[in-house]
Amino acid sequence: MLNLPENFQTYSEARQQGFIRMKELKEKGKKVVGTFCTYTPTEMILAAGAVPVGLCGVSDEPIPFAEKSLPKNLCPLIKSSYGFAVSDTCPYFYFSDMILAETTCDGKKKMYEMMGEMKYTHVMQLPPGRSGIMALESWHSEMLRLKNVMSQQLEVEITDEDLRRAIRLKNRERKAMLNFFEIGRLKPSPLSGYELSTVIDTNSFIFDTEEKISILENRTAELRQDYEDNFKTKPSRPRILITGCPTGGVREKIIRQIEELGADIVGFENCCGPRAQKDLVDESKDPCLALAEKYLRVNCSVMSPNPARIEAMEEMLEDYSVDGVIEVILQACHTFAIESDRVKKFVTKKNHLPYLCLETDYSQADTGQINTRISAFLEILA
Ligand code: SF4
Ligand code: SF4
Repeated sequence: MLNLPENFQTYSEARQQGFIRMKELKEKGKKVVGTFCTYTPTEMILAAGAVPVGLCGVSDEPIPFAEKSLPKNLCPLIKSSYGFAVSDTCPYFYFSDMILAETTCDGKKKMYEMMGEMKYTHVMQLPPGRSGIMALESWHSEMLRLKNVMSQQLEVEITDEDLRRAIRLKNRERKAMLNFFEIGRLKPSPLSGYELSTVIDTNSFIFDTEEKISILENRTAELRQDYEDNFKTKPSRPRILITGCPTGGVREKIIRQIEELGADIVGFENCCGPRAQKDLVDESKDPCLALAEKYLRVNCSVMSPNPARIEAMEEMLEDYSVDGVIEVILQACHTFAIESDRVKKFVTKKNHLPYLCLETDYSQADTGQINTRISAFLEILA
């Protein structure tokens, strides 16, 4: 049994509840911006007085709609996101006044061209690497271009003071998230990876940042107390770090399964974890430059080279007392699939820890096979 709070909402329950809140906001005249990635400078959306909402598809239901025009051999996250849009089955896409996207992987950036035929889509040109001054200069100029585009598209003025206020607010949210993640360091961890990933993914359906912060702070305090009262003296289970592609679409099939089979997921080195949160935006600098610096540091595999990902993993293996690493690769995600060789060597040869790589999609076809592989992996850790 996972340690879930009494008022726990599954991803689909939280997503559905958000529909009503979003409809109310739209009726009050709020503008909405749909997003897909942790490279998105959400501060710009908040500074424009608009509401950001995550549109990443985590269900296989809309995939057949996407496959009418996208190749079958494509990442399920891209197909699911596009499928929701093209089949008009995502109220959040419907309510979005514009889409804010970035040139990350090839599949996503080409899909955005097609999405742009349905709804105004602004694609920021993310540099393919961080090396040299040119990368930061070009990303900074993309922040300035975004500021103009959003002002025109949403018909608002965005001042530096608006941006500074948004930066301070988002930094507070980041700190609350980091404190929440840190619960995973406790031994044994009272926070299940299933809850952690659900909370982080459904955060996007709460449209008031102050409310998000207070939910995170309250749950963190509750979990700390739970640790003192109930967990402290319990025996620890094998402690797993998840790495690789975003896992929202395989939450039941992999994340929940790992914990049901007897291990604790103590941390995520992917877009569900501290990857995008651990660096705050510098509040003392010019806001667009500070945003450019912060978001260029996100260590996703789309960056080349990407040594910061291994450095982040090194810290997490130690800080979270990890016993084994499970990497999740979504089908046809070339950047994470190629990096997995380096990750495997780093985990097994440098850190002498067991490593398992699961390549999968959003279907249920491989559920049995995945269960067998996870069970065998956990036996090594027992
Ligand atoms: S894995 Fe990379 S491209 Fe995908 S959402 Fe995360 S940062 Fe964006
Ligand atoms: S998981 Fe990989 S292929 Fe899929 S959207 Fe993210 S970076 Fe692109």
